[in-house]
Amino acid sequence: MTTDHLNNTATTEQDIIDIVARQHDYFKTGVTKSYQSRIENLNKLKTALIKYETQIHAALKQDLGKPEFESYLSETGFCLHDISTTLRKLKSWMKPKWRMTSLLTQPGSSRIYYSPLGVNLIIAPYNYPVGLTFAPLTAAIAAGNTAVIKTSEMTPACSAVIRKIISETFDADYIAYIEGEVKETTILLQQKFEHIFFTGSPRVGSIVMSAAAKNLTPVTLELGGKSPCIVHDDAKLDITVNRIVSSKFLNAAQTCVAPDYVLVHKSVKEAFLSKLKDRIIKIYGEDASTSPDFARIVSDNHFQRICGLIDQQKVIVGGQSDVESRFIAPTVMRDVTLADKVMSEEIFGPVLPVLEYESLDEVYKLVDQLPHHPLACYIFSESAIIQQEIINNIQAGGACINNCVFHAGNHHLPFGGVGESGIGAYHGFDGFECFSHKKGVLKSASWMDNPLIYAPYGNKVSLLRKFLK
Ligand code: NAD
Repeated sequence: MTTDHLNNTATTEQDIIDIVARQHDYFKTGVTKSYQSRIENLNKLKTALIKYETQIHAALKQDLGKPEFESYLSETGFCLHDISTTLRKLKSWMKPKWRMTSLLTQPGSSRIYYSPLGVNLIIAPYNYPVGLTFAPLTAAIAAGNTAVIKTSEMTPACSAVIRKIISETFDADYIAYIEGEVKETTILLQQKFEHIFFTGSPRVGSIVMSAAAKNLTPVTLELGGKSPCIVHDDAKLDITVNRIVSSKFLNAAQTCVAPDYVLVHKSVKEAFLSKLKDRIIKIYGEDASTSPDFARIVSDNHFQRICGLIDQQKVIVGGQSDVESRFIAPTVMRDVTLADKVMSEEIFGPVLPVLEYESLDEVYKLVDQLPHHPLACYIFSESAIIQQEIINNIQAGGACINNCVFHAGNHHLPFGGVGESGIGAYHGFDGFECFSHKKGVLKSASWMDNPLIYAPYGNKVSLLRKFLK
């Protein structure tokens, strides 16, 4: 029986059980493991993404009002660049890596071999529905795995294109697409996978991890949080403001690594706020709803939630909204404190609270009072000492110095959270490692036999002490 239908039709519980079982059988054939097969499938995925680029961008416009530039930058272009890098580097990534051999285990040699994990479940969120589906899938294929993919029900147009791409490109025994909401995801989570790669909120991440624990399935959790952006008194304010505005309001701030709030040094606060306001108006106009470069909020629920975080008394720019089009203007709130509602949860919308500080100790205390730890931390300062001090004192998944968000666009850096913002990391070689088992292999020489470790032990313990010093 073929399983092609599973990539094309609605999914029942039996379909899900069936497809996971078939993927296990397919993985056991060993077909996915060869370098050639990985390269062929990555090329197929690349060709499909190029073929469907226009439809993907149209779907992103429909679901999220995403401007084409942003769709290419953070979704299709991002994925194509990721696949191209992987195609170029895969041979060297797959090569066993040498490690030192300790005195006790001499004579011999030691290497790490990378083996695929097996059948993976990839669950994607709504905010970058294409990028956050195909980036982990690229890593899964590169590492020689099979995968079942579940996208978010909140972006139906994107889900339809993703399903089409997957069903046309791959057999469901190898890469399967499962349509569904919580019910289907719950059934999926009851199945046995070798690895679950989840991107989404800490709340659902905890549900995923609990379900995975029942099968002792390892998880990678790419979660969110409140990422601080610190503007110190020596920051170059013009460039700081340019970079904060473009990274915060990208995708209407529905970005896991968006700067959630700004902590600005008291001495430059007024100048910073004035430049921030000017920059927002310059980029998006007096009425941002007419700007072609600004996205919309994904759902009515999120629209209401974000509007509820805005305190109009503290707004210095923005604050307008339109329920029909789910538009919320790029908004800045000043003189915010931890007591404001906007500081009580990850904002995930175009509202930027600005808080002030006088000493970095205040910054550390404030960040420490929020959930541990943020996904990212951004530092604007010209002083290498200040930059280093903040890097050392604020624990975060990743960081940028004098920029925001773009560390996630560098495939040479691991991307992931720490503490409540996630477990594990991916992108580039780290993505390959994330979907691989690192098998440590010691090859002992047979031209001699070390008598030290054999009984009778006699008084060999004193010799052993020398080896294990
Ligand atoms: P979400 O957690 O609501 O949903 C993520 C996925 O989980 C979706 O596919 C959804 O269908 C599924 N899901 C929802 N409820 C479920 C349940 N009860 N049981 C099983 N599955 C369930 O997240 P979202 O709203 O789509 O995305 C926003 C969140 O994701 C933010 O917190 C953001 O910071 C985070 N995020 C993190 C990254 C990252 O790389 N670290 C990237 C994007 C988004």
